[in-house]
Amino acid sequence: MSLIEKTAAELLALQASGQATAAQIADAFLASIQAREPKVRAFMLVNEADVRKQAEAIDAKRKSGVKLGKLAGVPVAVKDVLCTQGMRTTCSSKMLEHFVPPYDAHVVERLRAEDAIILGKTNMDEFAMGSSTENSAYQKTTNPWDTTRIPGGSSGGSAACVAACEAPVSLGTDTGGSIRQPAALCGIVGVKPTYGRVSRYGLIAFASSLDQVGPFTHDVTDAALMMEVISGHDKRDATCVDAPVPEYTKTLNTPVSGLRIGIPKEFFDDGLDPEVGAIVEASLKQYEAMGAKRVPISLPNGSKLAVAVYYIVATAECSSNLARFDGMHYGHRTKQKADLIATYSKSRGEGFGKEVQRRIMLGTYALSSGFASKYYLKASKVRRVIKNEFDAAFEQCDVILGPTSPTPAFKFGEKTDNPLAMYLSDIYTISCNLAGIAGMSIPCGFTKANLPVGLQLLSPAFDEDRMFRIARMYEAATQWHTRRAVV
Ligand code: GLN
Repeated sequence: MSLIEKTAAELLALQASGQATAAQIADAFLASIQAREPKVRAFMLVNEADVRKQAEAIDAKRKSGVKLGKLAGVPVAVKDVLCTQGMRTTCSSKMLEHFVPPYDAHVVERLRAEDAIILGKTNMDEFAMGSSTENSAYQKTTNPWDTTRIPGGSSGGSAACVAACEAPVSLGTDTGGSIRQPAALCGIVGVKPTYGRVSRYGLIAFASSLDQVGPFTHDVTDAALMMEVISGHDKRDATCVDAPVPEYTKTLNTPVSGLRIGIPKEFFDDGLDPEVGAIVEASLKQYEAMGAKRVPISLPNGSKLAVAVYYIVATAECSSNLARFDGMHYGHRTKQKADLIATYSKSRGEGFGKEVQRRIMLGTYALSSGFASKYYLKASKVRRVIKNEFDAAFEQCDVILGPTSPTPAFKFGEKTDNPLAMYLSDIYTISCNLAGIAGMSIPCGFTKANLPVGLQLLSPAFDEDRMFRIARMYEAATQWHTRRAVV
């Protein structure tokens, strides 16, 4: 196995034993990017010179005997929605084409504090709105398993670069499925942490009551490691919970005994591709073979109403969050001569793409005078019902399992003309965000066309350590996570 196919944990071990330097690792990934980017187009920006400099600094630090951080010399790619000091951060939007943040997001600070190397910024659906990364204003990222297909979204670049071995790990964000769905479609691990587990300071907001930052990795061990680094209290994000962060990697290999797996019947309905269904069913059998018990459960509201509720809550919050991009305070300003109001509307009309405009209009309508209680308030109430439904389910089971995405990766253009079809890509992932609980996707097999399929695990809030142990049980008994795409 060459360096680029290794996990972060393996790269750390190679450096500790003197078999590789951070500079060699950085060079290997830079070479991989150079070779594969023309096909994958996962990156918005790679700061080559700086990557080498960061790596050399880590090697020098190691030589001088200074204690190194948990991610020393590990290159990390970062979704272009997270602020990086001195590095352009666009949200893949024309609105922020020239934005260079003067500060790092909290999670980026945490990565640097643990001696990780910031490799570059990854492509995404504009302002994280989408499920295929086709809404980027700049480029189309491909799926490394089949470059005629989409990588999922909105964190498509962060998923594709790990699947293509251009980076060993990366960060994305998940508002309704944007980490889990692309992880599933690209055959890697993706974690949506509990709401409040990870600080969003320096994350450019989409829907503030849903957004969370989380990792993409090849395996569960790396996911646990990344979560140890990025989780924890930060007073700059008022929603970030002040609770101790478990050492996830320490308990990872302790299987959960007497494991009860909740299977929501609504996750296996007509909308599920039969091949995906069969692969997920096989992974449930694998758990049973390890002694787990199936508990049939039902999440009627969490399944039927989730998409409708999400598209009220998320659009309302996005219309409010994106109001700041008016060409005056922030973002692209029109070159056309106009008065103040016309400058706002022209700047926004030029700066935002079609999907973002659609969401702003939907959300503005939902919040408009006389309608807010009819829509946003009502949606918030249904949201509570969905949360209660999960709480009741978790009294009967330790984890909820099902497919992450109803289909494998689809072709470019297949759903771009039909927003509703696109929105249904997240039918199994959205309720987790509405309930604020934790979720992840792990690779669990391949279709006949060699497209990866993801298994979704959902756990109660702040129960990531147990979720990782359950995920690791499956991984330890299977080989899917060791496969690498050939690009
Ligand atoms: N696909 C969903 C949307 O378009 C989720 C996006 C996300 O999680 N950022 O809103």
